[in-house]
Amino acid sequence: METSAETNISRLIKKYAAEVGFDLCGIAPARSLDEHREILKKWAISGMNADMAYLGQNITKRIDPRILIPGAKSIIVTGLSYYTEKKQGGNGVPVISRYAYGINYHSVLKARLNKILAYIRTINSDVIGKAFVDSAPILEKAWGKEAGLGWPGKHSVLINKEIGSFFFLGILIVNIDLDYDKPAEKDNCGSCRLCIDACPTGAINDDRTINCTKCIAYQTLEAKTQIPDEVVVKLEGRAFGCDRCQEACPWNNNSKPNETPEFELPVEVEHMTAGDWKNLTRKDYKRLFKDSAIGRRSYCRFMDNIEAALQIIE
Ligand code: SF4
Ligand code: SF4
Repeated sequence: METSAETNISRLIKKYAAEVGFDLCGIAPARSLDEHREILKKWAISGMNADMAYLGQNITKRIDPRILIPGAKSIIVTGLSYYTEKKQGGNGVPVISRYAYGINYHSVLKARLNKILAYIRTINSDVIGKAFVDSAPILEKAWGKEAGLGWPGKHSVLINKEIGSFFFLGILIVNIDLDYDKPAEKDNCGSCRLCIDACPTGAINDDRTINCTKCIAYQTLEAKTQIPDEVVVKLEGRAFGCDRCQEACPWNNNSKPNETPEFELPVEVEHMTAGDWKNLTRKDYKRLFKDSAIGRRSYCRFMDNIEAALQIIE
């Protein structure tokens, strides 16, 4: 049976994505994700986007990448595991979410996506494309589902049957037609509600959205205002991010540790005591975290997080 040019290029793209280290790669046709319009509107109107007002704006642009990138035809969606069995924290030490252990994932994924783009251009030099990692109004998780990578769990994070949910998503939008994967149709959560029951603050809504005003991850990573008292009392030592709902998910029972050395927790950070965190100077904060996701938070805000986290575990 003859295969089309699109099929051949798509196969080569996926093979190359694996070669540069991605754990997952799927491809979806660019379209307007109209089915997300009302959910986004409702979520923003209810105030659950907290102070991320931008998430409720420009919805037409957010759901249609063809507006963002004129000429967009295909959305290549990649996944890169950040799971590790190493667990920082314990003994009264403030807890950092696994995703922030190593260097900033944006740069790691973007470099790999740009390698894929350069590779595609060796096959067809007319290809124009752009890589996105949390950097534009794109519904990454929805595109992950469209490209067959997995389904959004009740905790709203995308789950892949083989590698679970501890993975980053990276998107490459290109101006050529490719061979497309089937969207992940099946919801493999079934009647399970372990993540909902495990969430310390009751932040998971029934419609698989998250109430950011209650979510520890949002409050410790993104919020520009002080962490609300009702969240502070539920931090249980968490100073940056929260993995609780993902840890509770049975689809993460067999998560394979990542093979990306850049995502390793530095030895110096691993051995920091509660006192070291409490007395972290601005200079050491910069030295240790300037290239990590933690460094995206200001020193003052990060130290507020540490103080709030330690209040409860001291
Ligand atoms: S990240 Fe933490 S606080 Fe947010 S929904 Fe998950 S368990 Fe709840
Ligand atoms: S814990 Fe259960 S309900 Fe939650 S995402 Fe995992 S499978 Fe779905």
